[in-house]
Order: sequence, then C-alpha cells, then structure tokens
Amino acid sequence: MILRELSEAFGVSGNEGDVRAIVLDAVRGHVDAVKVDALGNVLAFKRGTGRQRMRVMLAAHMDEVGLMVVGHDNDGFLRVKAVGGIDPRLLPGTILQVGSERIPGVIGVKPIHLLKKEEHEKVPKLEDLVVDIGAKNKDEARKLAPLGTYATFATRFRELGPTVSGKAFDDRAGCAVLVELLRGERFRFDLHAAFTVQEEVGLRGARVAAYAIEPDCAFALEGTIADDIPKDKDISPTTELGKGPAITVMDRSFIADRRLVRLLTSTAEELGIPYQIKQPGVGGTDAGVIHLTRKGVPSVTVAVPCRYIHSPVALLSLDDFNNTVRLMRQSLSRLTRRALEREGSETLERERSET
Ligand SMILES: [Zn+2]
Repeated sequence: MILRELSEAFGVSGNEGDVRAIVLDAVRGHVDAVKVDALGNVLAFKRGTGRQRMRVMLAAHMDEVGLMVVGHDNDGFLRVKAVGGIDPRLLPGTILQVGSERIPGVIGVKPIHLLKKEEHEKVPKLEDLVVDIGAKNKDEARKLAPLGTYATFATRFRELGPTVSGKAFDDRAGCAVLVELLRGERFRFDLHAAFTVQEEVGLRGARVAAYAIEPDCAFALEGTIADDIPKDKDISPTTELGKGPAITVMDRSFIADRRLVRLLTSTAEELGIPYQIKQPGVGGTDAGVIHLTRKGVPSVTVAVPCRYIHSPVALLSLDDFNNTVRLMRQSLSRLTRRALEREGSETLERERSET
C-alpha cells in the first residue's frame, strides 16, 4: 500500500523531495495536469465531468517533524534543533537517519546505572542531547553531517493486525487518502489537489497553494491525534482509534464551515460510515491558512485518527483509513455549488472563463 512507501520516505519540512517523487509517481496517469510550484508543493488537477462549475481544493501536507544539525562537538557528536513540534522525552535512545545518505545515528543516552536521582526525574532538554553517528571527531562529524543536515526517525512501516504502525502518519496518512481519491473516478467539479510543504513549521506551502488554486471550498486531509490511551483522569479523548474519520468543527487554526461539516456527517449517517467529531480546540491544519485565502474559502478538515503522532512511531487503524477515503469520496460526489451559496447573496457564479 502507498502508505508504506510514504511513511518510510524522508521528508522533514523544507526537504520534501523524496515524498514529492513518490506522490508524482503515484498520481501520474490519474490526473489531467500536475506541476511542482516554486515552494515545492505538488499541485495536481483532475478535470470534472462539467456538471458542477466549481473548484474544490483537497490538501495534505508532505512534510514531517524532524531534526536539523546545528553544531558539532569536539568528540564528533551532533547537536540538533527540532523542525516542528517534537517532544524531547521521546528522543533518548531512538535511532535516526541523518542526511540524504540516511546515515544511521543514535540519540545518545546515559546508562541507567550512572543516572543520579535528580536526572531520573528530569526530562532532558533537546539542547542537552547529542546525536551519535559514530564520528571520531569534529571534522569527521562535520564532513558526514554538515550544518543544516536533516534527520528523521528510522522507523519501518509494519502491519499489526488490523492496524499499521510507522513514522510520519501526520500527514502521510492524509497524502495516501488524497492519492486514493485522485486514482478514482472523476467528480462533477474540477478537483485541485495540493500536496503541501512546510505545514509543520507554520502552514507555509498551503498558503501559496491556495492562492494559486483560488478554490470555492477546501478540505484538509490529515492524520490527527488519537489519545484513547490510559489516563489518570477521565478526560475525553481528542479522537479514538477505530471510531472512523475525525471531522473538525474548530481547532486552534480555524472554525470549519458548518455546511461542509453537515455534508460530511449526513453522508456518513446515510451510508452507515462511522465518523467522530474531533474534540474542538485542539491542533491546527493547513485549513488554517486556506480558509483566509483571497476572499475567503469555506473549509473543513477530515482526519485519520493516529496514536502517538509526532513521535518515532504512530499507529492507525486500516478501517479508519479506508472509511476516510470512502467518506471523502461519497461526500464529494454529493457536493454541489448550491450547497455553498449564502442566503441573500448572488450565486458563486464568477467570471471564470479559464475553467
Ligand atoms: Zn498534520
């Protein structure tokens, strides 16, 4: 499955080339046009059957969180900074791949035998951690991994019964859903897919992609937080594994368009597709910048719930993944321009000779 390839690709923000190559390969022959824009977004166009004159944008980000080399110790260790949100608690002892040559590295860790009591109880700071690539000294470290070299987790994709595990499901899960949608039948409207760059560092690629596409509405496809794991207190989870695609009504980056939320929930209910509403107020996605593009773009986010995102290994349910593809496909086939008209205003009809 395409998710395996996407998950194992090396694509920390600003360095999405490997993911881009996989995406271009996967959609070729299934779309009418595809290009790579100035920032590196993949923009694919699939013409509609013409029965709805409308431009619909689907976005999924190609980048993942990771590390960047910012210094070298005399002993040959690398100093790193985070690219995107990384929890330093997860880092000691993890295995990395460093640079385009994918040099294996280990995040150095003091053996438990030597830990002082206070060190036991303290979370290490990222600036105190080192990456060990086996270099003998500073010069060798510099040569193998110069300043600015990217590093990511060296995690293989695995099938675990009805679930799969791997790195970067945020947002390679969304990328895989988008690839599946592009490989299917045409919709009634023109579909503009954007596989975006640099989401994890501030929704940067989506900003220019949405400007170029000028969509009438947009769907951000994501892998989102499933925190249905044992907790101290009875806090309701953001989303749960196995309960279907998660629909966002509000997060830190935007408030979803209620007409699009309704389209998704009514489609799911009609067809018996499980779905869940993501706990409001948590996280942010490309929709955060897309909805503010030009004169405004009604937007919504649909996500595959993933446990342990932004960590070396995440886990998702294949049922959730397949139901996300199905819910999106069925909802899009019901989407009409009329559904987006505001009461009391003219229709969305525009001077759109180019479509
Ligand atoms: Zn994401």
